[in-house]
Amino acid sequence: LANPSIGFIGVGNMGLPMATRLIDAGHDLIVFDLRPQALEPLVAKGAKAASSPAGVASQTEIVLASLPRPDIVRAVALGENGVAAGSRRRIFVDLSTTGPRTARDIAAELEARGVVALDAPVSGGVAGAVNGTLAVMASGPGVAFAEVRPLLEAIGKVFHVGTEPGLGQTMKLVNNLLSATAIAATSEAMVLGVKAGLDPAIMLDVINAGSGRNTASTDKFPRSVLPRTFKHGFSLSLMCKDLSLCLAEAEGLEVPMWVGNAVKQLWLQAQALGGPDQDFTEIVKMVEDWAGVTVGGDPGPESGD
Ligand code: NAD
Repeated sequence: LANPSIGFIGVGNMGLPMATRLIDAGHDLIVFDLRPQALEPLVAKGAKAASSPAGVASQTEIVLASLPRPDIVRAVALGENGVAAGSRRRIFVDLSTTGPRTARDIAAELEARGVVALDAPVSGGVAGAVNGTLAVMASGPGVAFAEVRPLLEAIGKVFHVGTEPGLGQTMKLVNNLLSATAIAATSEAMVLGVKAGLDPAIMLDVINAGSGRNTASTDKFPRSVLPRTFKHGFSLSLMCKDLSLCLAEAEGLEVPMWVGNAVKQLWLQAQALGGPDQDFTEIVKMVEDWAGVTVGGDPGPESGD
């Protein structure tokens, strides 16, 4: 079959645009999410809704998942009415960020049940998912990877980083450590500049023309912080999860991470103060509160003095 039907489980901030791109690429999709209303836009485009992960995996050979946390991916893959319980499933592709341990465990348990697992976490945010410009970092057996590669190419630039399960996850954790560090450091830098009297928009122009340029200065701050919209599409609790997974790997491999640990504490504190459901760009608010200034937004009547 040129365009085999495929399963997609978890259609949240990332899953919905990725699944939409697969439909637009000509695939028939069988979809499942705990929130039935999340499936509506896909069903409107011709996707078929199943009533459980096993239901998806009884109608398709290849099942993709984009789910929040490791424990959820584990339950969806291996639990009662999980993917493994389906009758047709052959390949399971986890697009979520779950860490290498979960990826290795799931791969071993699925292999025992006749399913090949690939981990293929993604980077590039909701905008990357909408535009098909994600970085997709896959690992797992080469034959299965070759089979799903054309599907993954519908969502982004695809890298096969290794044949061992979990290496894609390690790659993703390393990437997000840098992304989280950039946001944390840029928050401190911007707050300092604003308190000293610099214009935050001019600061970003200068940083982005200079050596301080990073993904927070080029994307998060101009798009979500300066306009004070804070709807970048990634929850603060998921970033805390990624940092916890990353630091656990560092400890397991006995790699010291002074910077990484400081960054993780900053994110955990923001979560403790403002709650898990904040957008991740809202971490700047904590740093602003400490300093008593706001980065961007309506400058208000007192500005300009
Ligand atoms: P999300 O919370 O927006 O979406 C998760 C979806 O999974 C929701 O629709 C939820 O209803 C569904 N779900 C939860 N439990 C389920 C279950 N047991 N069965 C079926 N569906 C279930 O999360 P997201 O931002 O889309 O992130 C998904 C994964 O991708 C996470 O691991 C995240 O770390 C990773 N990720 C997110 C981004 C981003 O910018 N949002 C970028 C890269 C990677």
